[in-house]
Amino acid sequence: MLEEIKRLMELQTLDRKVRELEESLSKTAGRVTHLQDEIRKHTAELDLLTGQDQEFAATRKKLEREFAEGEARLRNKRMRQNLVRNEKELQALEHEVESQKEENQRLEADLLALTEGAQPRETRLAELQQLLSDAQAELAKAEKEIAAEVEETKTRLVAHRRERDKLAGEVDAPLLQRYEIIFSRRQGVAVAIAKAGTCQGCMRLLPPQLFNEIQKHLQIHFCPNCQRILYFEG
Ligand SMILES: [Zn+2]
Repeated sequence: MLEEIKRLMELQTLDRKVRELEESLSKTAGRVTHLQDEIRKHTAELDLLTGQDQEFAATRKKLEREFAEGEARLRNKRMRQNLVRNEKELQALEHEVESQKEENQRLEADLLALTEGAQPRETRLAELQQLLSDAQAELAKAEKEIAAEVEETKTRLVAHRRERDKLAGEVDAPLLQRYEIIFSRRQGVAVAIAKAGTCQGCMRLLPPQLFNEIQKHLQIHFCPNCQRILYFEG
């Protein structure tokens, strides 16, 4: 029986290794997925801000043109002020100059506000472009590394599974089945050490009679609490 338990312990070591390799495979794939998500997110924000930036540029162009036109009109009116002699006409012109000046000031203020408002977006745009190019470079690197890593892990996995199946073939079938059920239900610990009267799998005290029996290694014993296969280690 001791032999059988030792085989199970060995099987457990291999099964854990297989599980570890499988987890590392899915984690590796997760790294690529994470980077791809990041790139998607940055690209969406970049597209949104680029659209806003184009709108901003169009608005600024329009305001600049209106301002230039306003300035030209103001110069024109001032020139006319020098030519006109009629008092009434002069007064009307003066009024026009004043309102044109106000209009130009308003346009200038709008332009300034627009430019100031664009600054955080421009900063973020530059930041995003950097983030995006970093993530793309990282993804390219990760994909290359991962391809090699995945290949290596898969090869190791195949070897471990082969070794594991060979060993499993030497274990009594009903016991193997029971072992496999416990292994999957108990997070990869199917065989636990019984030490100082306690099951090291669940840390519960074992009935003294059972603990005595386990030490004899005459048959396979299970923990009455967690159902694990018990193995005595003196
Ligand atoms: Zn237990």
